[in-house]
Amino acid sequence: MLYRSTRGRFGPVTASQAIKLGIAPDGGLFVPTDPVTIENPDRLINSTYQERAEAILQPFLTDFTGAEVRECVQSAYNTVRFDTPAIAPLYKLAPGLHLLELWHGPTCAFKDMALQILPHFLKKATEKTGEDAEIVILVATSGDTGKAALEGFRDVPGTRIMVFYPEQGVSEVQKRQMVTQEGGNVSVVAVRGNFDDAQSGVKAIFTDETVKADLAIRGYKFSSANSINWGRLVPQIVYYFSAYLDLRRDGEIGPREAVNFVVPTGNFGNILAGFYARRMGLPIRRLICAANRNNVLTDFIRTGVYDRNRAFVRTISPSMDILISSNLERLLFELTGHDDRVSRWMEQLRSSGCYAVDADTARAVAELFWSDFADDAETINTIRNTYREYGYPMDTHTAVGRVVYGKYRAATGDATKTVIVSTASPFKFNESVSIALLDTETVFGRTEFELLEILSGLTGWVVPPGLRNLDKKPVLHDTVVNREEMKDAILRILRK
Ligand SMILES: *Cc1c(COP(=O)(O)O)cnc(C)c1O
Repeated sequence: MLYRSTRGRFGPVTASQAIKLGIAPDGGLFVPTDPVTIENPDRLINSTYQERAEAILQPFLTDFTGAEVRECVQSAYNTVRFDTPAIAPLYKLAPGLHLLELWHGPTCAFKDMALQILPHFLKKATEKTGEDAEIVILVATSGDTGKAALEGFRDVPGTRIMVFYPEQGVSEVQKRQMVTQEGGNVSVVAVRGNFDDAQSGVKAIFTDETVKADLAIRGYKFSSANSINWGRLVPQIVYYFSAYLDLRRDGEIGPREAVNFVVPTGNFGNILAGFYARRMGLPIRRLICAANRNNVLTDFIRTGVYDRNRAFVRTISPSMDILISSNLERLLFELTGHDDRVSRWMEQLRSSGCYAVDADTARAVAELFWSDFADDAETINTIRNTYREYGYPMDTHTAVGRVVYGKYRAATGDATKTVIVSTASPFKFNESVSIALLDTETVFGRTEFELLEILSGLTGWVVPPGLRNLDKKPVLHDTVVNREEMKDAILRILRK
């Protein structure tokens, strides 16, 4: 399988090259040149998560041997890194309604599903392509990617990792997880601004020829651990298959019975993996895109107009506070049959913050996707009601999914069995979860770290090891920069 850029001016390249580069030099994202299909997925009904992962990943990584793919899978998905042998277990909330729990990895959010395996892909990819430069991973994070990438890449030989996070845009737990990160090859920098500032800053540096030349002389090369890297996206396809196969195994659905997935969405990476799973033959009826008040995707899916010219809203689901959803570019490239219209739309997005797709493309989007959004009050109410009704504590992002699923049912009457993708542990966003589940006096004046214990006492769930004692660890990273200073910060770190 080969990969080409969505901007049409680069490629084809092998999977190793695409993963090593992260983003294409023409500013586009890598996509497979040809569709992949999985014959008879039901043969994997009784397989483990690891076996399913090998079967799904191999056709995308044809320049990796079977043994190499297996090695990557085994190193990533095991019970040292994950707290359950199921890796991505399904929880049955109600008849026909399931939660796919993607937060059993070391950092308690779904980013671990990809970032535990990406460093292994990247290491093999650099070996295969005869690369001798040290790979510098640049990450912009809305909170969860940063920590997951730091955990995945810490002390991986031949790599350095630098994470940029919005100073005011992450929770206390998220921030602490990052600024206390240990490892000889890690840097963490706060940016004054929001996630979009951090992300566009990083994207600009990737395509800045003078920076690249300066680094090449010093023996460094950039790559990305954001979901613009194909190596981030492809492992996410696995859990859509795995959820379906678990439903089949447990007798919840019949042969070829289609299901819906509800996906709390920000950068459009998670839900795009669902799109690829469907293209590969997985029976998915609808992909329901759940947004928060930053509902640029909801408007796009309904109207075909993408317009980021609106106020950025800080919400209690901060990992979805995004106005530029990078992976939409891949979807549009696939839906237009790899057409250069996409380059024009992306240029319009860059110059004016807005583009409108043609009617055929808009129709194709709306046929497969459906979208609505939840505000913070709806999110809190849903966490509370779900706990009262089922005794299940949901995190804020997952709760956005549940609100939107309710709106979908009401609007369409579609009773197809549904999986809500649960993207974070409730402990990770414990302040909001506590506000939903406890009375004000209990929550008021407490730190997030005290609330962890209180929540644990209430629910009987144990505090995940990755979140314990975070307040007692020393702060190792305290640099804060303006967006324009990101480039200098990188050069300063690498020139040390
Ligand atoms: C990253 C993240 C999301 C959004 O996923 P995208 O792939 O960016 O759409 C949702 N929830 C949580 C908890 C996340 O960390």
